[in-house]
Amino acid sequence: MIPYGKHSVDRADIEAVVAVLESHYLTQGEFVPAFEKALCDYSGARFAQTVNSGTSGLHVACLALGVGDGDWVWTSPNSFVASANCARYCGAQVDFVDIDPCTYNLCTDKLAQKLEWAKQQNKLPKALVVVHFAGFSADMQRIAALTEPLGIALIEDAAHAFGGEYQGRKVGSCQYSDMTVLSFHPVKSITTAEGGAVLTNTAELAQKLELFAKHGVSRDATLLESTEHLPSEPWIYQQLTLGYNYRLSDIHAVLGISQLTKLDSFVQQRDQHARRYMQKLADLPLVLPTLVADTKSAWHLFMLQVESGVRAELYHYLQQSGIGVNVHYIPIHLQPYYQNLGFNVGDFPNAESYYQKAITLPLYPGLQQHQQDKVIAALTEALIV
Ligand SMILES: *Cc1c(COP(=O)(O)O)cnc(C)c1O
Repeated sequence: MIPYGKHSVDRADIEAVVAVLESHYLTQGEFVPAFEKALCDYSGARFAQTVNSGTSGLHVACLALGVGDGDWVWTSPNSFVASANCARYCGAQVDFVDIDPCTYNLCTDKLAQKLEWAKQQNKLPKALVVVHFAGFSADMQRIAALTEPLGIALIEDAAHAFGGEYQGRKVGSCQYSDMTVLSFHPVKSITTAEGGAVLTNTAELAQKLELFAKHGVSRDATLLESTEHLPSEPWIYQQLTLGYNYRLSDIHAVLGISQLTKLDSFVQQRDQHARRYMQKLADLPLVLPTLVADTKSAWHLFMLQVESGVRAELYHYLQQSGIGVNVHYIPIHLQPYYQNLGFNVGDFPNAESYYQKAITLPLYPGLQQHQQDKVIAALTEALIV
């Protein structure tokens, strides 16, 4: 079976991990800060806080903004459930902005309309989680122009887009956002098995991200409160808020350091495979991804739209031919959990219509040409009757 996504781990990665296993510290050693520095150097962001998953990253990003009871957080319905769940973890309410039918990212016109409506209703969101679907950055400049005057914070969910660029800068630079969340799950651009990071240019947010990711406990003298119960002694630490244990281990971090040196090459390979698909599939009755000016995709997914009536059949045919196609995404608001919160079929028609037609082809750095040829041949056979 040719999978839809796959990690690339080489000898150097393995040796780096083994070296940590043979060293003194398996966690809270030198490789976590070294990985955080490498993430800053790569992205151009000032601060990086590693965490044990992208989902944890989204959670601490919301916490750092003070998202809580009574707040609204908006995101795209065309994403993995984690993009919305982070708000629910904090007790906030979730709402969605429908997608653009060409880019499959959150539609900026719909965002503008919805903000206008929310302003009148006094229901403006505290934060917007912007998802860079399939690896293509959303139009952050336009989005920030809409949200910034209203004091709405921006979190980029860049789980798909690390290694990509927007306006000539790396995704993660946080040029237009408060924070950018990365995932290092094996199907993403680079992997630490499980893992993630939050990037920011704001020192205050960086401090909060660290606190929430580490039990709410600090030894930082500038943060500690003076109390009679906890006299200031050299061993002092204080729990200042309710945090979590979302730490990444050194075993994971060292894998991340090694993987990061190959990120540009991984993205380049994905880009070559994607361009080959674009060229070879151009004459088939399907909709190819739209290339966006000023945006260099990290090509997390290669998604197509086919007639909704043939999608299921095509999916089964390709699966039976040994091709691990997938579907991204069932709109979040159609999940039973979100239906129980009051969302209905028809609420976000562009995301729903896209979902009816979407199919994801195998795409990952190590995809061999003969494997890609097999995918192209099977798809051609299935679609040209
Ligand atoms: C993978 C993914 C996440 C969650 O990342 P994990 O590291 O698996 O927790 C969040 N958002 C999107 C869009 C993702 O694809």
